[in-house]
Amino acid sequence: MGQAARKTTPDTLDKSVEDYLSEGHTPMMAQYHMLKAAHGDCLLFYRMGDFYELFYDDAIAAAKTLDITLTKRGKSEGTDIPMCGVPFHSYEPYLAKLIRNGYKVAVCEQTETPEEAKIRAKKEGRPTSKALVNREVVRIVTQGTLTEDELLDAKSNNFLASLTNIGDEYAIAWVELSIGTFEVQSIEEKSLTSIISAINPREILFDENKFENLLKNDDFRARQITKQPSSLFDTENAGLHLKRIFDLGTLEAFGDFSRAEISACGALVDYIDRTQKGKIPYISKPKQITDQSIMYIDAATRRSLELTHTMNGERKGSLLDAIDHTITNAGGRMLQSHLSSPTTNLALIQERLNYVECLLNHADMHSILQDLLQETPDIERSVGRLSAGRGGPRDMAMIRDGLIQAEIIRAALQNHSDAKEIFSKQLKALKQNPALAALQDDLKYALSDNPPMLARDGGFIAKGYSEGLDKFKMLKDESRRLIASLQSKYQKDTGIDRLKISFNNVLGYFIEVTSKHADALLENSKDANSPYIHRQTMANAVRFTTGELAELERDITQAAEKSLALELEIYEDFRLKISMLAEEIGSIATALAQIDVASSHALLASDYKYCRPQIDQSTQYSVEKGRHPVVEKALLRESEKFVPNDTDLNTKQNLWLLTGPNMAGKSTFLRQNALIGILAQIGSYVPAENASIGIIDKVFSRVGASDDLARGHSTFMVEMVETAAILNQATEKSLVILDEIGRGTATFDGLSIAWACVEHIHEINKSRCLFATHYHELTSLSSKLERLSCHSMQVKEWKGDIIFMHNVKSGAADRSYGIHVAKLAGLPQMVLQRATQVLAQLEQGGHSGKAASALADDLPLFS
Ligand code: ATP
Repeated sequence: MGQAARKTTPDTLDKSVEDYLSEGHTPMMAQYHMLKAAHGDCLLFYRMGDFYELFYDDAIAAAKTLDITLTKRGKSEGTDIPMCGVPFHSYEPYLAKLIRNGYKVAVCEQTETPEEAKIRAKKEGRPTSKALVNREVVRIVTQGTLTEDELLDAKSNNFLASLTNIGDEYAIAWVELSIGTFEVQSIEEKSLTSIISAINPREILFDENKFENLLKNDDFRARQITKQPSSLFDTENAGLHLKRIFDLGTLEAFGDFSRAEISACGALVDYIDRTQKGKIPYISKPKQITDQSIMYIDAATRRSLELTHTMNGERKGSLLDAIDHTITNAGGRMLQSHLSSPTTNLALIQERLNYVECLLNHADMHSILQDLLQETPDIERSVGRLSAGRGGPRDMAMIRDGLIQAEIIRAALQNHSDAKEIFSKQLKALKQNPALAALQDDLKYALSDNPPMLARDGGFIAKGYSEGLDKFKMLKDESRRLIASLQSKYQKDTGIDRLKISFNNVLGYFIEVTSKHADALLENSKDANSPYIHRQTMANAVRFTTGELAELERDITQAAEKSLALELEIYEDFRLKISMLAEEIGSIATALAQIDVASSHALLASDYKYCRPQIDQSTQYSVEKGRHPVVEKALLRESEKFVPNDTDLNTKQNLWLLTGPNMAGKSTFLRQNALIGILAQIGSYVPAENASIGIIDKVFSRVGASDDLARGHSTFMVEMVETAAILNQATEKSLVILDEIGRGTATFDGLSIAWACVEHIHEINKSRCLFATHYHELTSLSSKLERLSCHSMQVKEWKGDIIFMHNVKSGAADRSYGIHVAKLAGLPQMVLQRATQVLAQLEQGGHSGKAASALADDLPLFS
């Protein structure tokens, strides 16, 4: 994470403008220092004309990150002041890069024109020639407070969260500013990290005096952490902020909030207020999440299963990437959030599965819906931007088009007897109330077809919507005709055919004749009654004006100004109406996203032959011909087939011990079962021929070894920390996959740990568990542990080589084939021969340490 660079002499809030002036700074730099002192943790974008300029260490840091030229301006403390700038008209990509690199940016604008500054200076009795325009920081941009499309990932949510604890109550509140959703949940201390990874906020607000230990956690280190003074989390203070922002007399309107929940929500809205400098975008009242029915997946399991990102942090190659067939951005965001927090609510799962089944049963209707979704814009984010005062006419057009599409989609579902019943919730949400229907009608009538991005560009109100506007526009449009007729009148008057009326920004409209014809007209202009007034003499031409032309120009300019002012008035009126209906528009957007997610699941199911899982409250996990969704897709791309496998875990047999050589497909089999469980509980069909799954409360996965040297943890330490978490938390309803536990230490230590873990899961946790191991000794446990059964990956030997069959068969593996795999990997022949020799000796002498040490004496060194 980058940090805003510091100056040698830091700016401080204790200094006044006069202090800076007395240090020899210009008035402008004194103003800069005052603003920078108040926003020390941010890079300051200081607006100067058409640029945002950065100075001092801010400039050095920004120039390096943005790869732009570092220049200098004036001197400070005897040395040049480093400076760099980004253009105001296209600052977004620069801002995005700085934010991505962990910086916060304070955007400082000129809040008055130079003319206004002069008038103010005159009033205050200061010289007007040196009047400095006033500047203010209008917004602080951080990772969690972004709302611009250009700065956001269209298919991912961008949450800002606040984490707090009061006594032993813990709570987390989170908001998506680009949409306006606001949620809060009380949590247990031990679930902090898993909830954080389920919500996946980009920025987290912390009490500066708490949670120090969490900052060491991987899952926190990757996010922007913003420490806040403890006083902001004080329940009383937080309550006051909430009442002020939501304009409430009492917090009871929210429901029964705990003190920690109020603290988390209050600190969050206060931060939004401060960063948005009072211009708070629409945020819904905080919704209390009391439903604890979320499948528990800790951060290590999420990483190892590569749910939304691969271990390398990329979306490509993740489960999300493999299953995402959503069409709209809002649908994509919803799918990602479902995958981040699968549910344990049986009714909800069945409801989602019903949507998918309905679309699969009615392919014609599904295809119509897909076409309609294709034309559905991201209204969720447009509303967010407009209510934050950051949107534009194009956002309004998106809302217009989105509402029209919502109507069409509603009609398509309504007219279908099955869909009408299955999608009844969505149909209810899609029904527009009279105010929204009126807004939709108004927008249809008011907006031009392809309006500009920014309101200040004008030209977005359609002809016929406002009489006043039409009049101004007519005058503007007519101006060309009026000018042309004046031109021909003057040509006739003067007899100069080549007389022209032109326009430039300095003179405005003017009459121009070539030098050849100028004399006559210059002579004419000297006559007191002549309409022609001399303006400018050029090398080849002379320019004139007339009272009539000046009057016409005034009318045209005024018409343009008035027309823009009127358009902006209409725009603001619509903006307010849209902000007031933000909640209703949000419900429509949610319904459309739900339909899109169901459509995505249906597409996946039909393209890759997935089945509807049978879900109940039992503790069985029975899958016939299950496949790994990501590996299967990768193999298909190479025209190779994935070998399906069965899994059957139940109360009589809840632990499978899986042995087999490396590369035989153990990890793939383990993961595919966890992924099938997760897919089922987001309401998706699953890659199998049949699946009966009792609701899984927690999924744990400990696959492969990974070093966390950055935190000072060795491979083995990481392995043991993760295993401890599993053994301490897994229940009878959990699904646990463990791959090669104990491999990171000496053979006998490792074997003993693996042994004890198997016994613990069998006797204490009683979870459904797949346990892959290379310790063949563990298979002997099957005679003692009645619910443990042995399985192995089938391989065939052929002419000294092995062929991986990739199917799971009952019974333990007879041997490891490690040397065969080493051969496949290309180990030198000499090493392979020697390894075979050592293995033979070891097998002869048994596995005792004594036998191994005697071996060194028995075997002469190879040369
Ligand atoms: P190791 O013990 O070395 O980690 P492993 O037994 O866990 O090996 P995997 O990593 O699961 O083996 O699989 C090795 C490769 O075999 C995979 O990359 C995949 O391409 C292929 N594979 C695994 N399972 C299947 C399957 N069921 N059908 C087809 N190919 C498979």
